Amino acid sequence: MNTIEAMYQELGIEERVYRFGAEVEEKLKKRFEEIQKTAEYNQLKVIRAMQKCRVSAECFQSGTGYGYNDLGRDVLEEVYAEVFHTEAALVRAQITCGTHALAVALFGNLKPGDELLSISGKPYDTLEEVIGIRPSRGSLAEYGVSYRQVDLLGDGSFDFESVRKTISEKTKLVEIQRSKGYQTRPTLSVAQIAEAIRFVKDIRKDIIVLVDNCYGEFVECGEPGDFGADMVVGSLIKNPGGGLAPIGGYIAGTKECIENAACRLTTPGLGKEVGASLGVNRSFFQGLFLAPTVTAGALKGAIFAANIFEKLGFKVVPDGRESRHDIIQAVEFGTAEGLIAFCEGIQAAAPVDSYVTPEPWAMPGYDSDVIMAAGAFIQGSSIELSADGPVKPPYAAYFQGGLTWEHAKLGILKALQKLVDKGIVTL
Ligand SMILES: *Cc1c(COP(=O)(O)O)cnc(C)c1O
Repeated sequence: MNTIEAMYQELGIEERVYRFGAEVEEKLKKRFEEIQKTAEYNQLKVIRAMQKCRVSAECFQSGTGYGYNDLGRDVLEEVYAEVFHTEAALVRAQITCGTHALAVALFGNLKPGDELLSISGKPYDTLEEVIGIRPSRGSLAEYGVSYRQVDLLGDGSFDFESVRKTISEKTKLVEIQRSKGYQTRPTLSVAQIAEAIRFVKDIRKDIIVLVDNCYGEFVECGEPGDFGADMVVGSLIKNPGGGLAPIGGYIAGTKECIENAACRLTTPGLGKEVGASLGVNRSFFQGLFLAPTVTAGALKGAIFAANIFEKLGFKVVPDGRESRHDIIQAVEFGTAEGLIAFCEGIQAAAPVDSYVTPEPWAMPGYDSDVIMAAGAFIQGSSIELSADGPVKPPYAAYFQGGLTWEHAKLGILKALQKLVDKGIVTL
C-alpha cells in the first residue's frame, strides 16, 4: 500500500498518533498559508539580489592561499548586503560560528573606554565570556570596554525610560538580541526592533546599533537592516545557510562597521582583501537561495509542535497561536522522563544517526545534565531538526529546525509516539 499512513506506520507511527497529528495540522492551514507567503516574498528578495549582483557560474570557483580577488566571496558579500539592506557585508568561512561573528563585530567596533549597552537584557550565554560578564581570558572587559544592561519589561517590551537614562557619553554601541535564546521572554519582532533603533538614534545618531539576528532571518519579510541597524549578525549553520553552508557567519552593516570588523577578523591593513573561500562558495550561495523555504519549513514544525503539546496540556513557549519571530519552540514536560522521551523521538526521526539513543550528560557551563538530539548532515547545525534541554525543572525541551516541513512533522510525531509508548501521555 503506497499510502502516507502506511509509510508512517513503517516508520513506527501508530494510527492514533498519526490521526492526532492530522487533526492538529488541519487547523493550521491558514497559518501555514501565511508562512508560505512570507517564504515567497523572501525567495523573490534573494533571487532579485542574486540577479542584481550578477551571480555567475564563475562565482562557484574558489580561491586558495591568500584569497586575493576571490570573485565568489566578494559577490556573495554583495548579495548579503543587498538581502539585508545594508551597505556592505562580511560573510566568511573563517568566521567559525555565530558567537565568533558577534565577537568580531564587537571587538572591531569598540575601543578601550567605550561602553557596550545591551537593551534586551542578558545576552546569549556564549556572549557572557566575550563581553566579560563572566570573567574570561581575552574578553572585551580585559581590553577596557565596559558593559551595561537594561532588562526588558515584564511583558517583554523595551524599557525605553531606562534606556534613555542609561545611555551616556561613553555609550558607543547598543546591542539588541532578536531571539529569546534559552530565556523565556518573547522573541522581539522586527517592528519592535525598528522602534528601538529609532529611539536610540534619536538620542544620539552616532551610537552603533548591532542586532544579534540568530534564528530570526527570513521569519518575517523585513530584517533589522531595513530599519537602520548598523550591524546585523548571524550564523550560517542556522537560517541563512539553508542547511547547506558547512560553516560560517555573517555581519551585514555599514561600510565603516564592516571595515572595522574585517580588520579584526584578518588584520589591520589586510581587512576584507584576504580570506580564501576554500570551496564553500557554492554552498553559501545555494544555501542562501534555499534559506527562505527552509526557514518556512522549520517555522511550520515549531507551530505544529506547539499545538500538539499544548493540546496535551503541556506549557509551550510561544503558545500555539502567538505570532512568530524566530524558529525556536520550547515545551515544558515537567518530568525528566518526558523530556528524554521527546529527545529520543527527535533523534529516531533523523536521516543521520537515527539508531543512536541520546543520553543526558554533564556539559561545561551547565549546572545539570543536558540531553541533546541531533541527527544532522552538518555537525551542530540547528537549522536541521534538533532538540536539547537541561535535565532539571521545568524539564523544557528547546526544539528547532527541520530542513523540510515533512521531516519536522515526522520528528514531532515520533516524539509524540515515544511519549505514548512510555505511558507519559494518552491520546
Ligand atoms: C546560536 C546563537 C548565538 C551563537 O551562535 P553559535 O553559532 O552557537 O556560536 C548567538 N545568539 C543567539 C541569539 C543564538 O541563537
